[in-house]
Amino acid sequence: MTRGWDLVVVGTGFGGSMVALAAVRAGLRVLLIERGRWVDRDDSAWDPRAILIDRKYRSASPFETPSYPFGRTRFYPDEAVGGKSVFYGAASFRLREADFRLRERFPDVCPESVDWPIGYAELAPFYDEAERLLGVAGVPGLDPTEPPRATGYASTPPPFSAPARRVADAATALGLHPFPIPLAINFTSTDGRRPCVQCLTCDLFPCKIGAKNDLAVTVLPAAIAGGATVMHSTVVVRLRLEGKRVAGVECVDVTTGERFFEPCRLCVVAAGAIPSAALLLASGLGAVEPNGAWVGRCLMRHCSGIVIGIFGSRTNPERVFHKQIALTDFYFGHATGRGPAGPWGMIQGLQVPPPEYIAEEGGFPLGSVGARTADRMVFLLCIAQDLPDPANRVEIDAGRADPYGAPIPRVFHRYTRRDRLARSALYREGARILRRAGALIRVRKPINTFSHAVGTCRFGHDPAKSALDPWCRFFGVPNLFVVDASFLPSSGGVNPSLTIAANALRVGRHIVAEWGR
Ligand SMILES: Cc1cc2nc3c(=O)[nH]c(=O)nc-3n(C[C@H](O)[C@H](O)[C@H](O)COP(=O)(O)OP(=O)(O)OC[C@H]3O[C@@H](n4cnc5c(N)ncnc54)[C@H](O)[C@@H]3O)c2cc1C
Ligand code: SF4
Repeated sequence: MTRGWDLVVVGTGFGGSMVALAAVRAGLRVLLIERGRWVDRDDSAWDPRAILIDRKYRSASPFETPSYPFGRTRFYPDEAVGGKSVFYGAASFRLREADFRLRERFPDVCPESVDWPIGYAELAPFYDEAERLLGVAGVPGLDPTEPPRATGYASTPPPFSAPARRVADAATALGLHPFPIPLAINFTSTDGRRPCVQCLTCDLFPCKIGAKNDLAVTVLPAAIAGGATVMHSTVVVRLRLEGKRVAGVECVDVTTGERFFEPCRLCVVAAGAIPSAALLLASGLGAVEPNGAWVGRCLMRHCSGIVIGIFGSRTNPERVFHKQIALTDFYFGHATGRGPAGPWGMIQGLQVPPPEYIAEEGGFPLGSVGARTADRMVFLLCIAQDLPDPANRVEIDAGRADPYGAPIPRVFHRYTRRDRLARSALYREGARILRRAGALIRVRKPINTFSHAVGTCRFGHDPAKSALDPWCRFFGVPNLFVVDASFLPSSGGVNPSLTIAANALRVGRHIVAEWGR
């Protein structure tokens, strides 16, 4: 089947959607292939049982991690058109200027890091554009480590709700500088869409009314209006190489099981940090010398955890959205030089999950107790920057396949001692804030997911040390780009989506300049 695509993009997350929009606007014929489907914007979208317990959007293709000392654990991510943006918390942060020079700044702490081949100034205009496309609401000038910005935000988030106000007052009393999280949420509705009703089912859920500015309601409709085609419910199982070029992609239709081939002039892999590495390995790109050795290596995922404060009375009597507050006072460590050395990260408010989910997750009896006290809780998310380590990696198990015949990814990941120390340091500061706010009990809970997975195909100048060149082109395969969370050489201490989006717009512009009609 030959439809003559200029560009085939695998995946419709932040990387894939942004590249596709840039390309289609320049007149390229673009096909986006996505294994998930469009989510239903009906009552199920805000139903904790449907989304979190019955897992309506659960992928049929797992990845595995070893369970120490024996066995394996299988993770089944959610999948949908728009990627994780559909389920995400919409926190939209820029990296800090010094994040681009980690090795230079902390040479003893970060020996395995490579500095970024670009600096903040090169990404800044694309951060502006990504914020515009994603309708980010924020307040500039309050974040103490905020990098310079040429523009303000398009809109302002609503005032702090009771839980966020409680944390803000306590943090301010301790001499810290809390500020509102920049959020990709439509609070003011200038484009005819329904504005946010500030519900309690945002992070982890699709937005039933489409007020979260996920890619399926913002960038993808714009790309489709510009002429792009989205082929959903279709899994790319292999890139077909002819000589040193990608000739096209081998696909499976999830509904019918039909196998087919889509030829292309240019291929962008944007399937997410773990699936992209697995797809490249399954396509033989690990054997390309010398950069193939870096495919799958240096997986990072942030060393994150939650400090849960339990108070004597209800913390959110109005029962409204409260993922609102952030602190970067400890981003590069403690002002007094108190350890650990190297970057720490940030603390931010997190929505308390629904009681039925707490009960399910926590098991008996802890989950039941947690569910009954959920309305007295405040959650603070600690995002510690984890450092790259080549031993943390994605491999494929060629002997075992998923339902579509693709090899199952195996993920090996261990935090370094310093990663854990950075998280502990943030826990300590988060607990101090919650104590000051009046929390009677403070509990620490590590996050064990791969929701912030990055780094498996890092970009750089040197093919002996990175998989991709500074334009995210695979060294040695001129018509192949990898443009998702995989490209990051370091994880930074902020949520990754805005950086993935900005970089994809940057690469999109380069692709258009080189390949446009
Ligand atoms: C619950 C949750 C909350 C989060 N909250 C935030 C937040 O508040 N702020 C923030 O910045 N980040 C947040 N993140 C992280 C953020 O969502 C991710 O970093 C980001 O979405 C990654 O973008 P991506 O383009 O790399 O990949 P993805 O968003 O994962 O997109 C990849 C797409 O490719 C598809 N795909 C994969 N394999 C194939 C294949 N073989 N064939 C066809 N399609 C394929 C996938 O289905 C997916 O749609 C959150 C993540 C989760 C899970
Ligand atoms: S808080 Fe707003 S954006 Fe989030 S799910 Fe609810 S209505 Fe949608």
